[in-house]
Amino acid sequence: MDGRTLQKMIHDADKGGYAIPSFNYSDIWDLMAIIEAAQELNAPIMFAANQVVAGVFTPGVSGAMGKAFMAQGKVPMIHHLDHSKHVELCLQCIDNGYPSVMIDGSDHDLAANIKMVQEVMEYAKADGRWVHVEAEVGKIPGKGVEGYVSEEEKFLVEVEDVKELVKATHVDSLAVGIGSQHGFYKGTPKLNIQRLSEVNDAVDTPLVLHGGSGIPRETVREAIRHGINKMNVGTIIHCTYMNSLREELNRVGENPYTLDVMASIRHNIKEVVKEWIDTCMDVNRA
Ligand SMILES: [Zn+2]
Repeated sequence: MDGRTLQKMIHDADKGGYAIPSFNYSDIWDLMAIIEAAQELNAPIMFAANQVVAGVFTPGVSGAMGKAFMAQGKVPMIHHLDHSKHVELCLQCIDNGYPSVMIDGSDHDLAANIKMVQEVMEYAKADGRWVHVEAEVGKIPGKGVEGYVSEEEKFLVEVEDVKELVKATHVDSLAVGIGSQHGFYKGTPKLNIQRLSEVNDAVDTPLVLHGGSGIPRETVREAIRHGINKMNVGTIIHCTYMNSLREELNRVGENPYTLDVMASIRHNIKEVVKEWIDTCMDVNRA
């Protein structure tokens, strides 16, 4: 399975008016829950390691694990490297069988961002390979940003920047800053749907929304209707995992056995994943 499978998944989503959900995992237990939820709903999904997870496991181990899970899928499931700030890590993950990687050069100015994307794109398509590459334009801030106003101008993607990056790189998909943030929100998040529509009109590149966890379902669906083709969900997976772990450990008391504890945690994560699959893929339902 290579990035062309993902291209088709995104193309089908675009035509069908839904988005492919991408779920961040931290280890094999939450990953198994994500995979099981997708299998049970027959939903094409992505599962993603961020650069810390890929780094801790190493690209070799996480890549092999990803390949094993992708091979099991009755529905297409694509392993993805999320938010790599480093070109080198993208190249290592490509070498280890990731069919999709994200190079996040959004901390840099546009010229440097473009150069990073070009380097990854060149490697991703070299020697007969076809690995999907996602880039980012406009900032998607991290969690806990004090006093952050979600539609604040400085975080918004500029349409001209998008056009320039797409023209220079032909990148396969693009994360856009339209007011979402990673983690949960203080107050109600507001997405700039107007800017999203402008970007969607300006380029054919599939668009990605990050920071799904704290956005109300109806707002997510509105963004999907206005051009989002892939939706990233991370924080709610991590929090469900850790909060469920604490509850289970409190419940069982001394000397817990790992597999016993994990059973209900996997169940809880699966429920969250299923809810998000429904939010992203059944967009027009009330
Ligand atoms: Zn993100």
